[in-house]
Amino acid sequence: MKNSEREDKITLGISSCLLGQKVRFDSSHKHNRYITDTLGEYFEFVPYCPEVAIGLGIPRPTIRMVKIGDEVRVRGVKDPSQDVTESLKNYGEEVAPQCASFSGYLFKSKSPSCGMERVKIYSEKGDPMDTGAGVFADTIMRRHPSLPVEEEGRLMDSRLRENFIERVFIYHRWQQYMQGMTSAKLVEFHTRHKFTVLAHDEPAYRELGRLVSEAGSANLSELCERYIELLMQALKRLTTPRTHANVLQHMMGFIKEGMSREDKQELLEVIEEYRLGRIPLIVPITLLKHYLRLHPNDYIESQYYMNPHPRELMLRNHI
Ligand code: SF4
Repeated sequence: MKNSEREDKITLGISSCLLGQKVRFDSSHKHNRYITDTLGEYFEFVPYCPEVAIGLGIPRPTIRMVKIGDEVRVRGVKDPSQDVTESLKNYGEEVAPQCASFSGYLFKSKSPSCGMERVKIYSEKGDPMDTGAGVFADTIMRRHPSLPVEEEGRLMDSRLRENFIERVFIYHRWQQYMQGMTSAKLVEFHTRHKFTVLAHDEPAYRELGRLVSEAGSANLSELCERYIELLMQALKRLTTPRTHANVLQHMMGFIKEGMSREDKQELLEVIEEYRLGRIPLIVPITLLKHYLRLHPNDYIESQYYMNPHPRELMLRNHI
């Protein structure tokens, strides 16, 4: 069955204009084909256009963020008496509970409503003086600090793209675990993500291990809250060829007993080629899977690191 026909797609919130809806100030859209055509195979999108939702209309005069004293307000460019800050915040508060069932959110960059970061903030005179998050996006992110979020422009960077999609799949899995969470399930979730975390953030890997060792004695829902917050924070840190090579060598340690000297040498050489940037990550992973078939190991096979997202997205095929 094609993924587009599946009913179990992961749900993401999204800025409506990225889906091609003509909701921008000038009645245009910002359709992003990678999002609809490629990610659309795996994700279903729930669109929000905060500016239309608060009644600004299409087309509409442009608005921007302006620093007034210590405060940032969203005001009309031509008519500064038009202040929509509270309306955008209130709409964010209205949408936030719906986001509890989402596994991620894709925001439109540079928008004073939807931008996730680095949106221009102007002085009252109209000079750019600072940057920040759009007011609607900021409200959603504050209410859901662990929710994976990204902007469409950053998705074009292969490392940021892989990072976001990996976080979405992990967060989605967490949401499923949370439907019947027990101390044993928390240990299982953590155990199966160990090498993933190690590839992102070694200190967090150790800290998460310490947290999970409290399962059974600490209050479970408090522990889960601390765990997911730390985990999602750690996963934002980008992996590097060095950290992946470290993980691959660790994994190899679990199966090397059964491997011949030549096979071990070959795998180590391929890991090194990857570390030096000569081949993509998919190559040592594929070779490791091959040796894993010859020398099965339940622990390594259970690691989500081996299959973090659908192969068809080809997120590990870049150098
Ligand atoms: S960036 Fe946000 S507010 Fe602007 S058109 Fe797109 S969805 Fe609407």
